Amino acid sequence: MNHRDKQRFMPEGPSIVILKEAVQEFKGQKLIEIGGNTKIELPDLVGQPVIDFKSWGKHFLICFSKYTIRIHFMLFGSYRINEKKETAPRLSLRFPNGELNFYACSVKLLDDDPDKIYDWTADVMNKSWNPRKAGTKLKKIPNTMACDALLDQSIFSGVGNIIKNEVLFRIRVHPESRIGKLSPKKLSALVREARDYSFDFLEWKKAYVLKKHWLIHTKKTCPRCALPVIKKYTGKTKRRSFFCTNCQMLYRGSKIGPSKKRSLSHSKRRSSKLKNQPS
Ligand SMILES: [Zn+2]
Repeated sequence: MNHRDKQRFMPEGPSIVILKEAVQEFKGQKLIEIGGNTKIELPDLVGQPVIDFKSWGKHFLICFSKYTIRIHFMLFGSYRINEKKETAPRLSLRFPNGELNFYACSVKLLDDDPDKIYDWTADVMNKSWNPRKAGTKLKKIPNTMACDALLDQSIFSGVGNIIKNEVLFRIRVHPESRIGKLSPKKLSALVREARDYSFDFLEWKKAYVLKKHWLIHTKKTCPRCALPVIKKYTGKTKRRSFFCTNCQMLYRGSKIGPSKKRSLSHSKRRSSKLKNQPS
């Protein structure tokens, strides 16, 4: 079995929202002890209360008055609330009413206001999420594949690989479609579903029924067509894509809109030439 197929905790935006909700009991609590094997130098935060917990996509933020600790779970990170794992925590925070432990994650200290660092309008789970801005960003990357665009955290902060696969299945778009080839209607469906599916993900994950609702991710058969699902590491991000070539259309055809004609005419000629070559 390919090592990449193994189960692991790879949080997407909704999982960080769940964490944020789960640690609300520590909001306003003063820190009693801070530890862990993180290599970064942490300021003396003992005695200071947590002002807020925030999330931006896959980033989890623990906010104190002057500093913010940023946790990024990367590929193998995890956390425990009021319990410990056998391995040493990367960061451990103790409060009068309990403790918070983080493992195998990246810890960073932000010395500026998170509002100055983060664009909340790019976070699909945030109340400030701005779909129009996402649409504008997408129009600037016509040659990017849909699978890569959805994983671009500066456009869809919080979207991970599961959400990517399920969104593309919902809107019937092949992961290797070029963003510039999608119709305005498909583009807005992509933007809309990136958020809508994330909220479905949140609801299902909370009820422990997320996997049950996967329609294409890790599936062998397309539920719409009863045909075999293709599994391929697609795009520049090279993450696993699961898709059905029968109901998910590949948009990369030769039809070019007037505004893009000049910049794309050359690549169009090349791709039509390539198409005629035996593969
Ligand atoms: Zn299908």
